[in-house]
Amino acid sequence: MTVAPAKGAGLGGLAAAPVRQLAPYVIGKPIGELQRELGVDDVIKLASNENPLGPSPRAIAAMQQSLADIWLYPDGNGHELKQALALHHGVLPSQVTLGNGSNDLLVMLAEAFLTPATSAVYSQHAFAIYGIVVQATGARAKITPAYPEGHAMQMGHDLTAMLAAIDDSTRVVFIANPNNPTGTWNTTAQIRQFLQAVPPTVIVALDEAYFEYSRRVDCPDGTALLQAHPNLVVLRTFSKAHALAGVRVGYGLSHPEVADMLNRVRQPFNVTIPALAGAEAAIGDAQQVHSAIRLVEDGLQQLQAALPQLGIRLYPTAGNFVLADVGSGSAIYERLLRQGVIVRPVAGYGLPHCVRITIGTAAQNDRLIQSLATAMQGKQDS
Ligand SMILES: *Cc1c(COP(=O)(O)O)cnc(C)c1O
Repeated sequence: MTVAPAKGAGLGGLAAAPVRQLAPYVIGKPIGELQRELGVDDVIKLASNENPLGPSPRAIAAMQQSLADIWLYPDGNGHELKQALALHHGVLPSQVTLGNGSNDLLVMLAEAFLTPATSAVYSQHAFAIYGIVVQATGARAKITPAYPEGHAMQMGHDLTAMLAAIDDSTRVVFIANPNNPTGTWNTTAQIRQFLQAVPPTVIVALDEAYFEYSRRVDCPDGTALLQAHPNLVVLRTFSKAHALAGVRVGYGLSHPEVADMLNRVRQPFNVTIPALAGAEAAIGDAQQVHSAIRLVEDGLQQLQAALPQLGIRLYPTAGNFVLADVGSGSAIYERLLRQGVIVRPVAGYGLPHCVRITIGTAAQNDRLIQSLATAMQGKQDS
């Protein structure tokens, strides 16, 4: 069978139809880019939920040591890191799939389980990568309405609606718990109930990128539910609390048969030597994670005390970021940029009245508060 390329679309027309319809993921503005635009050095970025305390010193030392070996390919099976993660989580190494960030796991899940004849379910306002990986496969995206205005967890995933959206074609459900960019979460009881009710033939991808931070609310530990639910895949990352976003390493925990399928589509050397070494060392440093959690708890209080006084509404959050209703997200984003402060506009998530702000150090939060005070008065700079 031959298929003619899409007419009049140039080389882009040669791409697969679902890919031509994709909108690329919008990243947080890099510091260097704003420095070039403004011609200033003093820029702070509170746009990508990074941890400003940086990684464990042990992780840095391990990565530096690992540089002696980087002329070699990495261990494509990630033996040592899988052993360490298995021990840490009380699972078998065969249940662990390593990724180039947990984003890579999302791609693998879509490639392994979705085709144009299937569908995937996720919520309105859910993490944008879900839509991208689903659409790239040509599978149908079934996007359920989030909890409405006035609900205690407004904008959050409505698991009852998600359950109702599942049909015979559904192979994967994506749940971000907590969700980015809304900060909303589903409780232990809700997740348990959902997993009881979901057909065992549907893969449930439970994305716990902010797991460490979410301990302050009633957000479940997905790893405790793996035993009872063979269709569950728990996603974790070293990018957020562990502060290793730049080396790209995350993982999935699942039934070994699911891990086997993910590993078939995984690129053989998807996790680099420094990433394998840094992640393994980071697991053992509970103190570093504890410091990150403390920073976020203190910073959240700082923002909660100051921003409402500027007329900004903050929504509840279980992550290291807050969704802030500033009236016009794009206007405030631009005014903050001119003051050297990068936050994240979220109009692409259907939230044009908001910006997402990563909780920073006390000094960064102070700078943000000052800049927001100026921005909310409609001025361009201080
Ligand atoms: C940041 C984030 C990820 C993935 O980050 P990686 O750096 O690819 O591990 C996954 N899910 C959510 C909800 C996130 O916010």
